[in-house]
Amino acid sequence: MTMKTIRQHEHGDIDQLKLEAVEIPTPSAGQILVKLHAAGVNPVDTYIRAGTNGYTAQMPHTPGIDGAGTIEALGDTGHHHFQVGDRVYITGSLTGSSAEYTLCETAQVYPLPDNTSFIEGACVGIPCATAWRALFQRGQAQPGETLLVHGASGGVGLAAVQLSVAAGLTVIGTASTEAGRQLIKDQGAQLVLDHNDDNHIEDLLEWTHGRGVNIALEMLANVNLGHDLSALSSGGRVVVVGSKGTVTINPRDLMKRDADIRGMSLFNTSPAEMKAVHSALYAGLASGSLKPSIARTFSLVELGEAHTTVLKPGSTGNIVITINE
Ligand code: NAP
Repeated sequence: MTMKTIRQHEHGDIDQLKLEAVEIPTPSAGQILVKLHAAGVNPVDTYIRAGTNGYTAQMPHTPGIDGAGTIEALGDTGHHHFQVGDRVYITGSLTGSSAEYTLCETAQVYPLPDNTSFIEGACVGIPCATAWRALFQRGQAQPGETLLVHGASGGVGLAAVQLSVAAGLTVIGTASTEAGRQLIKDQGAQLVLDHNDDNHIEDLLEWTHGRGVNIALEMLANVNLGHDLSALSSGGRVVVVGSKGTVTINPRDLMKRDADIRGMSLFNTSPAEMKAVHSALYAGLASGSLKPSIARTFSLVELGEAHTTVLKPGSTGNIVITINE
């Protein structure tokens, strides 16, 4: 039996992405075959496709880390908590998520609550896990603190707004468009600003009566890091989630506040930390406080257009590929 999949045979532009037919994989012991209904598209998929930002892939490569669907088959052992037909989301796989089926290790598969659609479930893996790790594992966010999500209109940013509002933080979010700012406000942010407005950090300081924020989650550190430091309160932390180059900072901004700059990569998360992250995400999804926002869906053959769209300015949430619908 064959399945449709997108494959590339060398790194490069979106024209490397081809629709192909390959054998449906058979799960070995400890593996799970998932029939995908949707695949999330994240900026990192485009870096892996292109072979940029330090990412490479073994060829042929099927792009896509995140997805959601149902369990089609289980290998011999190690799946005590899953059955064929279960609704799941995946983050990571052995064969890629831009395909009708994907083969996973058990640790890459998580239960999807009934109230969460497959399209929403396909946006949990990287965006929501990154937001949770940035806020609570790296940022050590506490109820009552004030947070700046610098770049709140994309997949990670909107999840961060939802998770931090639910945790009792006061949230300030930024976006470059009116649609993005409205979406952030709808998720519960108390103040929305335009990160392309040169005065937005002054506006933040005025709104916080000069106190600044306890935490900043930074999506574009090469542009904003220096300004973030001047927006921190005493003991403040900046968590660097995204960056596309170098930046100049004034270390005195850190010294006078006892402030920290903390990097993070989701790929550094330990298995124990990952278990904590996904347990918290399940609880958020099931209670409805976490609900991925979908900006646009594409079909499998439109993966290239989805890769182009996820990097465009004017974000309003997650980009998703629909499959097997
Ligand atoms: P996305 O959906 O494409 O969203 C990008 C976000 O960045 C949007 O909110 C966008 O706002 C905002 N942005 C653009 N210019 C900005 C500026 N000058 N200042 C502040 N924000 C700006 O991407 P994502 O999935 O949310 O990921 C965000 C970043 O984190 C990407 O660079 C991604 O590669 C990175 N990331 C890192 C990790 C990690 O483990 N460290 C994990 C996941 C993602 P507008 O479109 O409104 O301008």
